[in-house]
Amino acid sequence: MAKKSFSIKYGALLVFAAVLFLVFCGPMTRSASAAPDLDLGGSSLFLGNVPYLSLTRICRENHISYRWDDLTGKIFLYRGNRYVTCLIGETLIDVNGRIQTLGAPPRILEGTLVLPRELIDLEWWKDIRKTYPPTMWKDFTIRSVMIDAGHGGRDSGGIGFAGIREKDVVLDFAKRLRDKLSSNGIDVRLTRSDDTFVPLPDRAAATNSSEVDLFISVHANIARTRWVSGFEIYYCSDPLDDSARAVQMIENAAAEGAKPASGFSSCSLKDATLMDLMNTEHRREAIELARSISASLGEERLIRNHGIRSANFHVLKWTQRPSILIEIGFLTNPREAIKLRDSYYQDRLAERIAEGILSFKREYERTEGFTK
Ligand SMILES: [Zn+2]
Repeated sequence: MAKKSFSIKYGALLVFAAVLFLVFCGPMTRSASAAPDLDLGGSSLFLGNVPYLSLTRICRENHISYRWDDLTGKIFLYRGNRYVTCLIGETLIDVNGRIQTLGAPPRILEGTLVLPRELIDLEWWKDIRKTYPPTMWKDFTIRSVMIDAGHGGRDSGGIGFAGIREKDVVLDFAKRLRDKLSSNGIDVRLTRSDDTFVPLPDRAAATNSSEVDLFISVHANIARTRWVSGFEIYYCSDPLDDSARAVQMIENAAAEGAKPASGFSSCSLKDATLMDLMNTEHRREAIELARSISASLGEERLIRNHGIRSANFHVLKWTQRPSILIEIGFLTNPREAIKLRDSYYQDRLAERIAEGILSFKREYERTEGFTK
């Protein structure tokens, strides 16, 4: 009898536990299992019992800016001079220099960066809301591009076959590229539109003080031997080989003795972490841009493609935008030099590069700056 009563009690307890489980855990379990179908821009997503929101949604709705480095998984949220630094998979966060612990870590879910909702309920954020005006939300649209025709005026750049001057070829090419992009709705500015000398720091300053989204510097190459030909795209980083170092030396010569000018020093972003993350992000975007142009070029057999390389060009280093430098061909190679003076060839080359820029723009906008 005692045994029976025990099993009845035990059974009732099991039913009660099951009801409890359904009432409390049911919705959470459903949310979690429905995760892949959830619109991250909509309601919270539950992982376990923790509500998460996408990084871009948190920032957009609360007017917070962010930077993130996909290599180290570091996320930097800021408004005014207040910030939070966190790491993917880590619950420890740095709130304005003080370490705090989150209940759950930032994560990447199906390629989207998600943050626990508690992050915006923390004191740091309530405090900021009162103190600092909302920052401009970066809307991930590429509207405007600065095209920089290398050299000019007293600086001829490289002199190639039959006395063909780099400064003339690249100015002509920059204008064609401008026309291709403009006809696709992009607002294009030029650092020079005639044969004038513009110091490298001024080119960077003009870019930093304007609203342009990308910086593209156009140059033409020279080599010791006539047989070298082809196309190269550079982004800013330490050169990885000797020939990249040589190109860097030639292109930086115009800045001999020059110091970064106004626009660089007037940068309002004083925080070193922010600067560091911004540079990392710009470099990542510059590499994506270079890849996109390189792929577009590969669709037509126009020119030998030497691919994407890195060098410390001053004009790229001083520019606070995703920046690349394109060497459109070798002027010392007679065949290539003659082609580079040909308007039909220039047009086709400009067409391919413009298509590469436009395809980068589409991907950048679709993925909100490669965060999705
Ligand atoms: Zn040059």
